[in-house]
Amino acid sequence: MNRKSESDKNKRGKLYYSFQAISMVPLLLYGIVVIIFSSTSFKHSMQDQVYTELKNVAFLVDTLLDTAYPGDYSLVGDTALSLYKGDINITSDYSLIDGIRQRTAMDVTLFYQDTRVLTTIKNWEGERIIGTQAPKQVLVDVLRDGESCFYDNVIIRETTYFAYYAPLRNGDGQIVGILFVGKPAAEVHSQVSRALSPIVIVGVVTLILACLFSISYAGTFLKALYGLRSFFSQVATGNLTEELDPAVLKRGDELTELGRSALSMQHSLRNLVERDTLTELYNRRSGGHHLACSVEKAKSKNTPFTLVIGDIDFFKRVNDTYGHLCGDEVLKTVAKLLRKHLKGKGYAIRWGGEEFLLVYENCRLETAYESLRALQKDISGACIQSGDNEIRVTMTFGMACDPAKDLKDLLREADDRLYYGKNNGRNQIVTCCGESQQTEKCT
Ligand code: GH3
Ligand code: MG
Ligand code: MG
Repeated sequence: MNRKSESDKNKRGKLYYSFQAISMVPLLLYGIVVIIFSSTSFKHSMQDQVYTELKNVAFLVDTLLDTAYPGDYSLVGDTALSLYKGDINITSDYSLIDGIRQRTAMDVTLFYQDTRVLTTIKNWEGERIIGTQAPKQVLVDVLRDGESCFYDNVIIRETTYFAYYAPLRNGDGQIVGILFVGKPAAEVHSQVSRALSPIVIVGVVTLILACLFSISYAGTFLKALYGLRSFFSQVATGNLTEELDPAVLKRGDELTELGRSALSMQHSLRNLVERDTLTELYNRRSGGHHLACSVEKAKSKNTPFTLVIGDIDFFKRVNDTYGHLCGDEVLKTVAKLLRKHLKGKGYAIRWGGEEFLLVYENCRLETAYESLRALQKDISGACIQSGDNEIRVTMTFGMACDPAKDLKDLLREADDRLYYGKNNGRNQIVTCCGESQQTEKCT
């Protein structure tokens, strides 16, 4: 097959694009939705975990402060702020909150009312950022309403925090300040990304594999479909020898069934075109084509080749005596015997009404002659039953064997010998004019 017809064979049509879309788009959408949904849920659950940690650390700080420094909170001084808990100035001792910072990587701040008085957060110069205010929303939610709240975007000195704020209470329950525990958002995000990336990678790889599988399946499906399309278009243009792509027959699915039906349709069509309907032998047209090929083959391979023309003797009499239908039965029986005898040796062609061409491939005249004698005997010995009639016929054969000769000359030679046999008593095989080799006659 040349390149142009190969490209025609695989020419993509509307079905190619819709098939790819049907197999890919829902898969891609589903995969993307699943990846986004699972990543988002995972991210939220990680954030919830951070909030729980913040809350636990806040509880720990509160408890440790109460245990280490029993008593109420009070602020002393206007400018240099000193926060007391009981009798102890806790602003002079950072060991407790710094220790927590070190162990938990979370910043801790204590506000007295709205003012930051004790903190682990430092500025660029390394100084603790005391004296600054809590965010307004925190003052409302925590200081005024007494709620404990989480916030995911608290900005302190250009750093965004995930933060937990809880009211700081004295022994009588009165709110005197706020306790802050926070974790830099960048740290939370990188923690989430680290945990999330394997999930996303597995999801994306699975999606890619699923897409590749889908593309490959669609590819093999469409290839088989194109194979069928090309086969049908060849058959439609009259090419009844076109071969179907073997991949179609290997699939074992509905396309294979379609392929098998296409092949049997091609076979039936070929039979209709090439075979004679009565005898099922090659008809003269297709037989002539096969014959030309056999001659070519014999010439190119330099192999022997024998041609025989056989004609039923006095066939007109059969028709006249028993009727045309009985004549047909005789033709069918003779054809069956011809087929049987030529199996593995060559083939027969219905050359005319009751005239047949026998082609012996790769066979010398002597071998063909022996075979023909057996055939002639079988034909003359056959008792053909048609209705109540028992009919017997004989045949006369003319042989020719010379691969060097033209097909036309070979045919003429065989025909001349047949004619010679007809004029010299019939029921015989003639291999050479003037030297007819008559066999036993049927009585
Ligand atoms: P010969 O021995 O010289 O060959 O004599 P013959 O009677 O066989 O030859 P002839 O050419 O006179 O007659 C051939 C007959 O074959 C004439 C024709 O009606 C008959 N015939 C041709 N085709 C068919 C067919 O398909 N069916 C039937 N029943 N008869 C056919
Ligand atoms: Mg005849
Ligand atoms: Mg005839």
